[in-house]
Amino acid sequence: MLLLCANPKAQYESHRDEIDAAIRRVLESGIFMSGGETAALEREFASYTGTSEAVAVSNGTDALELALAACSIGANDEVITVSHTAVATVAAVEHVGATAVLVDIDPDTYTIDPGVVAAAITPRTKAIVPVHLYGHPADMDALVSLAREHELRIIEDCAQAHGATWRGRRVGSMGDAACFSFYPTKNLGALGNGGMVVTHDADLAGQVRRVREYGWNERRESEQPGWNCRIDEIQAAILRTKLPHLDADNQKRSEIALTYDKTLAGTGLVLPRIREGATHVYHLYVVQASRRDELQAFLRQREIQTGIHYATPVHLHPAYRGRLAGGDNLPVTEHVASRVLSLPMYPELSSEQIIHVVDSIRELPM
Ligand SMILES: *Cc1c(COP(=O)(O)O)cnc(C)c1O
Repeated sequence: MLLLCANPKAQYESHRDEIDAAIRRVLESGIFMSGGETAALEREFASYTGTSEAVAVSNGTDALELALAACSIGANDEVITVSHTAVATVAAVEHVGATAVLVDIDPDTYTIDPGVVAAAITPRTKAIVPVHLYGHPADMDALVSLAREHELRIIEDCAQAHGATWRGRRVGSMGDAACFSFYPTKNLGALGNGGMVVTHDADLAGQVRRVREYGWNERRESEQPGWNCRIDEIQAAILRTKLPHLDADNQKRSEIALTYDKTLAGTGLVLPRIREGATHVYHLYVVQASRRDELQAFLRQREIQTGIHYATPVHLHPAYRGRLAGGDNLPVTEHVASRVLSLPMYPELSSEQIIHVVDSIRELPM
């Protein structure tokens, strides 16, 4: 039996009764869109992240797009972000008509390097989009002070970091707005698509709410152009049943990471590092290996699936190659892309499975 890298089915099975009951509740209510489940999820998720406003949307990419649009970011504006991320981060910036300006990452935490952000700021820069990659928060102190100094917005990409903290505050609560994905494999996953924008700014939340649905006012008149980015009630209900388990699930991920840390020490792999002041929620457990592809193929023979996040940085994908600002100067990004490997990581992973992964890695001297 193949040991999976991420396992949304195991997540479903461990919360099956509650999820089935939530789905049945929606089916019997007859309300499938824009109802009480969505509104309750928004309240509960705002409370969880320590923000005052939350707007549930169709997915994490749309969350980024709506947050950028609600901050009036569009044509002729520049947004500083990273290339070592999901394509979604950069795609969202381009979808609102803005220009993505890419900067390199910190080699220890794989998050945006604040030391190179200042040099990328121009008179057209409007925002920074830090990505809390793999579940590790970006260095928000440095970014917030840069943003204050240059009057920039910060829109956090929290798609991989539900529940992570930076100096005691949850990710999502430190920027002007923050975006989450509830794709099934994320730390808080739906059984389909979902996303959320959170903020402390009621006006900004109102703007996200309007553009989520055609720019409608209460009379369903479009006062401005908008999108259709609604979440459905079944996904909202499923997420409400899973949210109370998120901290315990993240705790299990941390325990698994600790076991990997201890048992993989001395193998020659570069293990995850945590910046002081941060808590990591291990959406992914990512190591670096000099013979990464060989290790991945070897583990595959041992029935162990691994992932590569990301084999190709965004600026080297065919759609973007050669045309993204900053793409000619990302040495750390390009170096780690050839070395990173994501080991199996999900809350239901058993001790025996972890031992199997570690023993298999130890069979191939690195
Ligand atoms: C998953 C992800 C997204 C996009 O979320 P979707 O719900 O798949 O649209 C954006 N950014 C990052 C870093 C992600 O991992």
